[in-house]
Amino acid sequence: MSATVVAKAKKDRRSAINPDGSRKTIHPADVKGRFLRRRRTLYAVLIAIYIALPFVRINGKPAVFLDIANRNFYLFGQTFNAQDFWLVVFLLTTLGFSLLFFTAWLGRVWCGWACPQTVFLEGVYRRVERLFEGPRNQRLKLDDSPWTREKILRRGGKLFVFLLISLVLSHVFLSYFVSLPSLVQMIQDGPAAHPTAFAWMAAVTGLLMFDFAWFREQLCVVICPYGRLQSAMHDDHSLVIGYDAARGEPRGKLRRAERIALPQVDGAAVAEKRGDCIDCERCVMVCPTGIDIRDGLQMECIGCAQCIDACDEVMDKIGKPRGLIRYDSLAGLAGKPRRMARPRLFAYGALLCVAIGGLTISLINRTPFEANVLRVRGVPYVLEGDSIRNQYELHLINKNPHPTRLRVEVDSPVDAEFTLPTETITLESLQSYRLPVFVRVRKEDFQGPFELRFHVHDESTSRTKVTTGTFLGPNSNHARNAS
Ligand code: SF4
Ligand code: SF4
Repeated sequence: MSATVVAKAKKDRRSAINPDGSRKTIHPADVKGRFLRRRRTLYAVLIAIYIALPFVRINGKPAVFLDIANRNFYLFGQTFNAQDFWLVVFLLTTLGFSLLFFTAWLGRVWCGWACPQTVFLEGVYRRVERLFEGPRNQRLKLDDSPWTREKILRRGGKLFVFLLISLVLSHVFLSYFVSLPSLVQMIQDGPAAHPTAFAWMAAVTGLLMFDFAWFREQLCVVICPYGRLQSAMHDDHSLVIGYDAARGEPRGKLRRAERIALPQVDGAAVAEKRGDCIDCERCVMVCPTGIDIRDGLQMECIGCAQCIDACDEVMDKIGKPRGLIRYDSLAGLAGKPRRMARPRLFAYGALLCVAIGGLTISLINRTPFEANVLRVRGVPYVLEGDSIRNQYELHLINKNPHPTRLRVEVDSPVDAEFTLPTETITLESLQSYRLPVFVRVRKEDFQGPFELRFHVHDESTSRTKVTTGTFLGPNSNHARNAS
């Protein structure tokens, strides 16, 4: 068999696909090391944040509560309603440019360190699996073994715990949308009383089970578009996890690693030092997507750094310096200096700064209340003796996270009489109110349509908003059109 065929067969054996095209279940081997410790710490922090957010209360509301049913949104002490939806454009733009900037700078750091798929798979489900089914070799044997009592107990126990975890996670997920007290009430009332919420919970639990018990790395490899886009965002100076081929090649098993006999020259064997890679395949065995990083940067690499830890461990054992697989840039791995200052990073950084600036300005300028003047339906004006009456509704919404008192004043360029049921009104957070306003102007003072200015002052934030309404009378075009 030729060397090419052997290499291809070896590569195929490693991939996540069987020769017949079916999927090969990947069982990454256990690994120890500095990156694993750091990742596990970060995973624990991220999972704690995910679970804690609906519990933690800021200004009397959950830190994150997306009340879609009422179109009210509570985010870290701030309240938003449907009228603030335009802010989502700035938010998405900021997130999009962050992705570009951080990928160009730090590669797929998001995938390996903070993506929920990796955090929950590697930080929770895989560890439960290890508990029930043992290390990689035992798991592989269990896959191939017939359905004995032991296999049923191990698999069943694992899936049962997976289901419990998925149920907890789906309930936490639901509490982001219905609030914790409502969720507790729903659980007490039972599924029949809240069929929609129950259906959502069941669907999320099913999705989590499908993903974390079976689909796993396929989500990153087949579905997630980010892996496919990364090559467009990367350049030779982006941080990646890579194999130092110049140092590692030619690879060879440890026994023959130091010296090998090469073809004879002038009757004497020429000896040459082998590369540092001893071809132990530990880096392949620990990889959660089943790839061989020695084949170069690949779309399937999620940047989890397990292969770095695995290879460092091997290097420690054979007395070689660490870093045969390491965080570096493609330029660095090729022996060139890594450049931080480069046009792509400046361009993405500038776009990100603009997006952050836009989002910040929008948030600062966002009024803590809404005030809109609406003309009441029906005739645009009413003639009452020697005066003309217009009727409006001032639609007020308190968007503060706390109750506030709104004071209303109206001014007019012509002499007018204003009738309001009250000039101040106290509204709860996100409460709305329609305040009727009657304006009378003497016929002799009315020379044509004019603007009324409604000043609404928020006493808790000392912010004032001015909104206008047009006063109409018998000789206004609008009135003629209407009549
Ligand atoms: S773990 Fe290191 S030494 Fe072992 S095969 Fe991978 S790169 Fe080579
Ligand atoms: S190649 Fe290394 S960094 Fe990439 S997914 Fe596999 S183990 Fe993780």
